[in-house]
Amino acid sequence: MPRPFRLMLRPAAAVLAAAAVLPIASAPIAAQTAASAPAPAAFTLAPLPYAPDALEPVIDATTMRIHHGKHHQAYVDNLNKAVAADPALAGLPLETLAARAGTLPAAVRNNAGGHWNHTFFWETMAPADKVGAISPQLAAAIEAQFGSLDAFKSAFRAAGTARFGSGWVWLIVGADGKLAITSTPNQDNPLMDVAEVKGTPILGNDVWEHAYYLKWQNRRADYLDGWWQVVDWDKVSARYGAATGGG
Ligand code: MN
Repeated sequence: MPRPFRLMLRPAAAVLAAAAVLPIASAPIAAQTAASAPAPAAFTLAPLPYAPDALEPVIDATTMRIHHGKHHQAYVDNLNKAVAADPALAGLPLETLAARAGTLPAAVRNNAGGHWNHTFFWETMAPADKVGAISPQLAAAIEAQFGSLDAFKSAFRAAGTARFGSGWVWLIVGADGKLAITSTPNQDNPLMDVAEVKGTPILGNDVWEHAYYLKWQNRRADYLDGWWQVVDWDKVSARYGAATGGG
């Protein structure tokens, strides 16, 4: 992508001063605060891949609208602002930001994670009548690693309920090619250099209260159990195939 003009200027103060007087009206995100004058938006929010009420009754339409349209949108907007504040980060993909998360400003780490995690989350789910089936390869791997699908779901629930405060619970393919369940705080994810357990996520659930509180209130375990009804196993199986170099 073309490099924005601000790369030609070095001191941050000069960037802000120059940006404040240059015409940037074509950038929608920039309209939010004229004083901070962010660069043109690099990251955008994709529409939900289904209607907001399509995952009812597991996830209610109001939660979906707020979660996607407000929470996820805020991660995108704040990521664009945070990246605009550091010219060295311009144009870097989310995966590169994740790999460097430990050395990035908190605003970049948190919002890059928030954008990646939620995009992945929407794509992990589908309406209950369109969720597909677990591939034979993934079914065999789950059985080998956890004993059975039910045992896997129990372990996933345990990891999700054990996450204190806000965070995510994941099924990943580790560097050894094996499946593992892991959990990350806040908007961290297993792609980040700071993750305790690193790997390629193939499934992930958001256990922030904003993801479930309107429908499930304090019953996070029930949300985790109900969630399986809208997990798109076709998608998860395809990710498993891609992560293991198989089909
Ligand atoms: Mn969320």
